[in-house]
Amino acid sequence: MTATVGEGVEALRAVMSGPVFIPGDMDYHSARSIWNGDIDRHPAVIARCQTQQDVVTAVGFAQREGLEIAVRGGGHGYSGLSVCEGGLVIDLSGMRDVVVDPDSRRAVVGGGARLADLDAATQAHGLAVTGGVVGHTGVAGLTLGGGMGWLTRKLGLSIDNLEAAEVVLADGRRVRACADSHPNLFWALRGGGGNFGVVTSFEFRLHPVGPEVHFALLFWGIDRGHDALRTARDAIPALPENTASLLGVAMAAPPAPFVPEQHHFAPGHALLLVGFGSAEEHTQAVAPIRAACPPLFEFITPIPYTALQQMFDDSAFPWGIRAYSKALYLDELSDEAINVLVEGATNKTSPMSFMPIFRLDGAFAQVGEQDTAFGGTRTPQYAINIEAISPDPAALAADRNWVRSVWDALRPHAASAGGYVNFSAEQDYYRVRATYGSTKYDRLALIKTQYDPGNVFHRNANITPSQQRPDIPSHATG
Ligand SMILES: Cc1cc2nc3c(=O)[nH]c(=O)nc-3n(C[C@H](O)[C@H](O)[C@H](O)COP(=O)(O)OP(=O)(O)OC[C@H]3O[C@@H](n4cnc5c(N)ncnc54)[C@H](O)[C@@H]3O)c2cc1C
Repeated sequence: MTATVGEGVEALRAVMSGPVFIPGDMDYHSARSIWNGDIDRHPAVIARCQTQQDVVTAVGFAQREGLEIAVRGGGHGYSGLSVCEGGLVIDLSGMRDVVVDPDSRRAVVGGGARLADLDAATQAHGLAVTGGVVGHTGVAGLTLGGGMGWLTRKLGLSIDNLEAAEVVLADGRRVRACADSHPNLFWALRGGGGNFGVVTSFEFRLHPVGPEVHFALLFWGIDRGHDALRTARDAIPALPENTASLLGVAMAAPPAPFVPEQHHFAPGHALLLVGFGSAEEHTQAVAPIRAACPPLFEFITPIPYTALQQMFDDSAFPWGIRAYSKALYLDELSDEAINVLVEGATNKTSPMSFMPIFRLDGAFAQVGEQDTAFGGTRTPQYAINIEAISPDPAALAADRNWVRSVWDALRPHAASAGGYVNFSAEQDYYRVRATYGSTKYDRLALIKTQYDPGNVFHRNANITPSQQRPDIPSHATG
């Protein structure tokens, strides 16, 4: 850090209402750590914003000082792009308020809120909006990339329920983006990631959910791979519309009380179902799957929606674990794709590495292709996240290769090389372009040129402003 920045930091501290951390400060190391423990970067300055004015101040300060900007919402990105080496982190973790108006069924959510904050505040009124499946994930990063979870089939993505966003732009202006104000920006924020500015609050439409829902876990041993995955493949699209699914390929059985002790940590495949209707409907949804391929064990229970949303927090995805991931969309789980998954399941090193497969259909598929900037099509499909997860750096390194090799083997079965931006630890121009497709990408690039022509916000699945675009070889856009 230069002397100029050092002096400037005191001036920054004097005008920020939130704290500012620099190397040597007592809380600097905790302030720079994020969910992915494999990321070890040392920003020059961390500005923990508490107000929108703090964000304006931090954006201006970084640009005057020539500091790269990273924007941190929940700090949950696989990529670790929300923390930079040198540079300034705009840390929104001081802005986690969630204000719910039960009459209008709206929630205004701070740019640093976590899903658990959102769920707790909305469920106090029996309401919810689509989020992800891990409570300590940030609402901001998740929403800006799309946002998929248990409610996707019923309510669409998080962005399909976004009414408005308050944004601080690269030039320090504050704008409200919604259908009537900055509509192009509002479109771009619904899938285009953190490219366009710092979102200081989101306004969501809410829906009645829970407070209790119905959960089922069916777990098959690793030796039943083909039968289990084909059974799940046949069952998932035909599930009642009130039932959501998540397929966990190559998962380890949890050491939970409901798992017979001899199966604790056993490798296998899990189908998780959540019923938002009656208990009877749920039982009926599970019965044919169990009959088609009897599981090693199963667990069926009513569960509070808020507990469902935090079910994996400490077991599968504890804060500070090391991780790497790659993503793909598959139109179907063909026999050939299942062969790849079954083989891949036997090759990993860390018991925690696995492949969650999200089903995208129902309300998700009722949204028009160009209605939002979501990086992917709106046809019924699967979003696959191939994840290396381990506390051990050597096991992570081994499984990083495993992720890449499974991705390479699955790629011929996918329509494009694109994958859900939020499940991709690494991004490059061609992958990002393949994810959005040319029409959406070109529109995003025009909006980027209008709102952030200097690419100030580039630590993301970057949309290159039109004038900075590299030449595109035709083979790279598929
Ligand atoms: C264990 C785990 C489980 C997950 N589960 C799901 C899931 O079920 N469904 C799903 O859809 N996704 C899921 N994800 C992916 C998740 O959506 C992304 O990792 C997302 O980026 C996390 O957002 P964040 O704010 O916590 O991340 P951060 O690391 O804080 O930010 C990631 C990026 O988002 C941008 N950003 C963050 N905040 C802002 C802001 N306020 N304004 C502008 N830009 C901002 C920045 O570009 C930043 O680099 C999961 C990820 C993990 C690691």
